Amino acid sequence: MMAAINSILIARVALGFAVTGMKTTRIVIAGGGFAGLYAAMHFDKRLARRADVEVTLISRENFILFTPMLHEVAAGDLYPGDIVNPLMRPGGILIMDGALAGDKVADPTQRDADTVAVRDAGRLVRDDEKLTSMLVPLGDGLLAAVKLG
Ligand SMILES: Cc1cc2nc3c(=O)[nH]c(=O)nc-3n(C[C@H](O)[C@H](O)[C@H](O)COP(=O)(O)OP(=O)(O)OC[C@H]3O[C@@H](n4cnc5c(N)ncnc54)[C@H](O)[C@@H]3O)c2cc1C
Repeated sequence: MMAAINSILIARVALGFAVTGMKTTRIVIAGGGFAGLYAAMHFDKRLARRADVEVTLISRENFILFTPMLHEVAAGDLYPGDIVNPLMRPGGILIMDGALAGDKVADPTQRDADTVAVRDAGRLVRDDEKLTSMLVPLGDGLLAAVKLG
């Protein structure tokens, strides 16, 4: 479903708000796979209390898949959900562009696969009680959501 959507998920793993006069070091980790997640966990452990450092993890998906156990899912010994963990924490931001799909999303007669995927993704975000979201009529529609605490 997400293939039709140009989406980026941003999960803030440690927050350091800029305090007036304080220089903030910003660390951006691209990719929420094994390398990215373990880097984020490392920084989180060491830097979470530092107000002058902000670490942001950018990932296309809001999950980490534990690939070494995929064969057990294929064999039917585990459910896919057993080897998947969500990444986003409270305060994490989800951004999806192309959320209007050229105005096709608002037109219920448009039932092609791409439009349905974008419509369903938007509905999932809006209906998720753990998220607060806003659709900005910018470009082809920018859907932004913040994970609540
Ligand atoms: C079936 C299977 C079994 C495996 N078993 C083992 C094992 O037993 N032991 C072992 O050591 N290794 C195993 N591996 C290999 C292991 O999964 C990889 O080595 C590891 O995932 C690589 O980590 P990575 O962080 O470099 O990349 P990935 O884990 O692939 O992470 C890359 C991340 O970057 C994100 N990304 C990519 N492009 C963008 C973009 N443009 N914008 C935003 N995000 C982006 C992706 O969505 C992904 O989250 C296995 C792999 C498979 C497929």
